[in-house]
Amino acid sequence: MRSRLLVVGVVVALAAVTGVLIYQGNSEVATASSATATSTSVDVFAEDTDAPTVPVVSVPSERPPTNVPMTKLEPGDTPPQFIIFSFDGAGSHQRWNEFMAVADQTNSRFTGFLSGIYLLGDAGKNAGAYTGPGHATGKAAIGYGGPESEIVTEVNDLNTAYAKGHEIGTHYNGHFCDDAPPGGNQWTTADWNDELDQFFGFVKNWKEINGYTDAPDLTVPPESIKGGRTPCLTGSLKTLIPAWKAHGMTYDSSMPAPRNGIYWPQKVDGIWEFYMPQVYSPGFDGMTTAMDYNFWAKFNGAKDEPDTAPELRSIVKGTYEYMFDQAYNGNRAPILIANHFNKWNGDSFNPPAMDFMKEKCGQPDVYCATYQDVIAWMEMQDPAVLQELLNRDPVAAKAP
Ligand SMILES: [Zn+2]
Repeated sequence: MRSRLLVVGVVVALAAVTGVLIYQGNSEVATASSATATSTSVDVFAEDTDAPTVPVVSVPSERPPTNVPMTKLEPGDTPPQFIIFSFDGAGSHQRWNEFMAVADQTNSRFTGFLSGIYLLGDAGKNAGAYTGPGHATGKAAIGYGGPESEIVTEVNDLNTAYAKGHEIGTHYNGHFCDDAPPGGNQWTTADWNDELDQFFGFVKNWKEINGYTDAPDLTVPPESIKGGRTPCLTGSLKTLIPAWKAHGMTYDSSMPAPRNGIYWPQKVDGIWEFYMPQVYSPGFDGMTTAMDYNFWAKFNGAKDEPDTAPELRSIVKGTYEYMFDQAYNGNRAPILIANHFNKWNGDSFNPPAMDFMKEKCGQPDVYCATYQDVIAWMEMQDPAVLQELLNRDPVAAKAP
């Protein structure tokens, strides 16, 4: 689809090497303007130029009901094991279709966190439709959506995903992180409100902004977008919660967990926070943030070394399996598989996520579900029964 230059902030690599994750996440990126003297540039992942075998996925005429059993537990019952797959950016036709095809086979649902400027084509970009808070008009740390044909493809993918019961959330717009400040760690509540106003504006008005006259409608209701993930896991609950509430959002999955291990999401000032967990990884024999970019940073400082892909895939898959075993046989907290649509390090991350989806989703008592469906399940539980789950100790919190 669009080719992006990956810019890796040196601070990230250093932090990963020292094991102190100051700045977590990725920047899948970018324009020359965001490549600074403190960054090293590695190769592009041209994610869709080599897509001769995109699976064909069917589109149901009506959005199906949830795949989660909406039943109330009795005290002492074992809850279902939820697995929540999410993909940041959500702007790759090939990735959408590959994961939707595997989801079809396993009765899975997943969540795509859309970067809003992927709905802005060259016309919208050139018209200055986006101004990141604190930045010049038009500037962004990721590419825009490209020509009209690619915007239409993206809209069709979003429509298909929503029609199949998958969920759309936000990955905000310009992907401004610590390597392209001011970003999420510098923004105020007013800045986040501005960023979200623009995101929802793009979702509602992308056709008019781009001047397209014969494009299809986007059939994802804006009011169905209830949560997201901030770029590079930036921002704080204090600055973000008022902005989320002002935009009708009910959950987030960005905040690095304040405690090690996998535990149930927590409701913070009215928002369900699905913390990004720090887990023990057998392959690394150490702790890691369970997200694609962070695995990569831990592995080799996020250097592009495609020859090492088999080894890294194996480590990532082994980490997922360890997370699953600990949660399934332990506190039954939802497992987050948090990826980008990417081909980093020789496609090190999609294969283990896809294999994990094939192997676990749809197994007895295992439901691969959207954030909103898991929230609906939690909120229908008896409050005392739910509280007992929320209070359970983390698993995978240290070396066994
Ligand atoms: Zn991102």
